[in-house]
Amino acid sequence: MKKIALISACLLGLPTRYDGLAKADQRVLDLKEHYVLVPFCPEQLGGLSTPRKPAEIRDEKVINIAGEDVTFHFIRGAEISLDIAGKIKPDIVILKENSPSCGVHSIYDGSFSGKKIPGEGYTAKFLKQNYQVFSEDELANIKIF
Ligand code: SF4
Repeated sequence: MKKIALISACLLGLPTRYDGLAKADQRVLDLKEHYVLVPFCPEQLGGLSTPRKPAEIRDEKVINIAGEDVTFHFIRGAEISLDIAGKIKPDIVILKENSPSCGVHSIYDGSFSGKKIPGEGYTAKFLKQNYQVFSEDELANIKIF
């Protein structure tokens, strides 16, 4: 029986990103040989539209490029994602690096200048408490089959 992988929807080619585009990653798609791939997008689950204004974490809050505090939606999305994970019990979780929701080891610094800093997104932080969470960039270096 195949294992279960909960995956950032944009990595599977679904157009869920803030700009209405996807970020399909062949390394992630190749997991289908061994895993049932379950897509989810915490920002959509948190009630944000697609497309939406880009947002970054600054001082523990999530602020969009218009200066609006959208932290509520990111926390709500993280809570619902944790609830979904509790129901499907994934063997692994693969999340999109650098996102204010999904970033596993790295996020943008809050200045909208493209600068990245060590950190994690809200959903990544929640899911790491109970699950094995990896970014797409780690797939080459880990044994998950
Ligand atoms: S919130 Fe996560 S799944 Fe949704 S578009 Fe951003 S990186 Fe992809």
